[in-house]
Amino acid sequence: MSIFLGVDVGGTSIKVAACDQAGTLLTEELEQVETDRASLQAFIACQVRALGACLRYLKLGWKNVAAVGQATPGPCNDGLMEKTANLPDFLTGQNVRSLLEQALEQDSGIAIPVCYYNDGNAGAYAEWFVRSQRKSEKFSLVAIQPGTGLGAAYIDPNGNVLVGAHGCGMELGHVLLHPRYQLREYPCGCGRRGCIETMCSLQGLQHRLGTLTKIDESQSATEVLKTPGDVKQKALAVRTLAMRGDPLALRLFTEQAKALGYAAAVTALLVDPHEIVIGGGLADRSATTKEFRDDFVATAKATFQEHAFPVQANTPFSWAELGETAQGYGVALLARNRQH
Ligand SMILES: [Zn+2]
Repeated sequence: MSIFLGVDVGGTSIKVAACDQAGTLLTEELEQVETDRASLQAFIACQVRALGACLRYLKLGWKNVAAVGQATPGPCNDGLMEKTANLPDFLTGQNVRSLLEQALEQDSGIAIPVCYYNDGNAGAYAEWFVRSQRKSEKFSLVAIQPGTGLGAAYIDPNGNVLVGAHGCGMELGHVLLHPRYQLREYPCGCGRRGCIETMCSLQGLQHRLGTLTKIDESQSATEVLKTPGDVKQKALAVRTLAMRGDPLALRLFTEQAKALGYAAAVTALLVDPHEIVIGGGLADRSATTKEFRDDFVATAKATFQEHAFPVQANTPFSWAELGETAQGYGVALLARNRQH
């Protein structure tokens, strides 16, 4: 049996998924290990350990592995890391893809090819793949993933991931937001001001919460302010409070939904996708109610329709289906594509 492994390397944990030649997911339960941030060597070694644990779970050996896919937060071009907010600085300028390839060969005694993709692109590819299996016609999707930052991806009708000349394709989070949805020009992690990410992400919730709680005394009756902890902890609690109808929390999500709708319209005018998939924490069905998700999409879609062309008005919006599996599974599938 020949399989493909995908290793999704995050700032705190590593998740591994596997698929077979047909692309079927073989790992219902994800193998997870902690990301070892002590040194470059330790960072690569923990990926090898996580992959090995997945093989033991599947009762297979390295000889069964046709290729490995590796995903990390970006920006990164074919494994060559640039400075990344969620990963240690010693990775900057290192080629994590070729280092993993070398470490795997040392561990297994076999040369196993490793391909690299940004984690957002990998997750979007898995969402595209499962939908394409159900459809009779070719289709494309844009994925928008609000998390700590704002990830985005475009998968074309042939299943190609838009990576770009410098690995910066679909950096939607750093497109400037229209002043109507900007409200204030907040500083962005990229060093500029006013990016879409500064409104439509956890970072965005923190900015808005910080401003609103300072300037708007009338908000002081809301539950958000009674939440213990700093602005980040309050921002993490905002989703739960919005579902309970807290007015400030609802206002923050309405602003975010509008920023996301505008971002979706910008991408629709550039790549005209068949479907827009919303991922990130908001898509977590165990953490949000259907009513909350429906309201969010309705607001996002109304803003989308104001800015997209009329013929695009009915572009469907859907929620990501695969949860935490998406990125590891997606990059395993992309490793499979390279072998075909
Ligand atoms: Zn930015």
